[in-house]
Amino acid sequence: MRPTLLTLLLLVCSALFANGAAAENIASGLRVVVIDAGHGGKFPGATYAGLREKDLTLSVALKLGKLVESGLPGVKVVYTRKTDTELGATLLADLQKRADIANGAGGDLFVSIHVNAARSSAARGVETLVMGETPKEQRYNEDALYANNREDLIDMSDEKTAAIVRAYIQNLQFTYGEYSMAMARCIQRQYVKSGRHDRGIKPQLLRVLYATDMPGVLTEIGFMSNPQEAAYMKSEKGRDEIARSLFEAVKSYAAYV
Ligand SMILES: [Zn+2]
Repeated sequence: MRPTLLTLLLLVCSALFANGAAAENIASGLRVVVIDAGHGGKFPGATYAGLREKDLTLSVALKLGKLVESGLPGVKVVYTRKTDTELGATLLADLQKRADIANGAGGDLFVSIHVNAARSSAARGVETLVMGETPKEQRYNEDALYANNREDLIDMSDEKTAAIVRAYIQNLQFTYGEYSMAMARCIQRQYVKSGRHDRGIKPQLLRVLYATDMPGVLTEIGFMSNPQEAAYMKSEKGRDEIARSLFEAVKSYAAYV
C-alpha cells in the first residue's frame, strides 16, 4: 500500500501539533532510546556472499541495547525487533510499524541500523543519514523509486506531496534537526576513532525517519560488498566494536541533551 496524500497530511498535522511539547522534552534528557535493527524476516535487506543485512543489523542492535542497559541505567531501551521477523506484510507497512513502535514508546532518540552494499567492491566506509532532501532526490518519482527498490524513500515527483514533505522538513529541522545532526556527528566521530573510513553525514528522504516523531538517524555500519568490511562485520569482534562506537555516541548524545 502506498501512502496517500491524506496519510501524509495527517502525519504532518500530528507532527506539527506534537512538536511544541516534544521540543521541550528533547532538552530534558535521554530517557528512551529506540534501537531499530533494519529489515528482518521476509525482508532481508542487502545480501552478499552469504551475508544478510538483517542478521548483521540485529546482532549489532542487540549488542548496542545491552551496552546501553548496563552503561546508562537511566535510559530505557526499546527495540523494534529482537528476532528475525518482518514487522509488516509490505515493506511500507514494515517501515511504518517501526515508527509506530518508536512513537508509541515515547522515544527520545531513534537509531536505525543498516548495512550498505554497492556494485563496486571498492566502496567502503561508514555514513549516517538524517532526514532531509538532496537535490538529486527531488527528481525521483514513485515509479523510479519502485524500480530501484527504494521504497524506503518518499516520492517527491507529486507537487502536493513534495510541498507537504518540504513543510514538514522545515518544521522538523526547527525542532529535531539539530539533535539528529548532533547524534549523527557523535556516531561518525566514534567510527573514526575506531579507525573506520568516514563517508560523512547525508540528508535523505527516508520514510522511517519521516514517520518517527523524535530526533533520529539511520547509520550504515559498512559495505557488505567490500571484502574487508564484510569480514569485519562477519566477525564478533567487528560487530562488538561497531556496537561500542554506537554506544559511545548514545552516551555523548545523552550528555549533550
Ligand atoms: Zn538497509
